[in-house]
Amino acid sequence: MRAGLGYDIHRLVEGRKLLLGGVEIPSPKGALGHSDGDCLYHAVTDALLGAAGLGDIGRHFPDNDPRWKNADSSVFLKETKRLLDGKKLKIENIDANLHLETPKLVPHFPQMIQNLSKLLDISEDRINLKAKSGEGMDAVGKGEAVAAQVVVLLC
Ligand code: MG
Repeated sequence: MRAGLGYDIHRLVEGRKLLLGGVEIPSPKGALGHSDGDCLYHAVTDALLGAAGLGDIGRHFPDNDPRWKNADSSVFLKETKRLLDGKKLKIENIDANLHLETPKLVPHFPQMIQNLSKLLDISEDRINLKAKSGEGMDAVGKGEAVAAQVVVLLC
């Protein structure tokens, strides 16, 4: 068994889409980033790479590489899955915390889980998502950021 940890945070700004787990969340502000800013996909990618002993997302997909400008972050997950397959590593489960002040994310969880399930070729019951607000405190709580924490287990 190999555990992996992922974390990502993006600044929220006007004029950008808010994508999480491949789902566009209706919001006046979206995630600033070189790619599409999907911090759930980024944190899952980092957790998987970490568990596999393959470094991190910045090593495989540098944010100064024009190939990844406004990239659909699902490509990071697809490539990471290919690397795991190459090492004969299987995903046992994924657990994630999504940090956003507003709007509520729970209604979007089924679609996010379906997207992750398809991209990573694992059953939906191996993916768990949880929503957290910042209780009006830190950058998340002030509506300035969106963040994700992820743990994965590979076997
Ligand atoms: Mg990111």
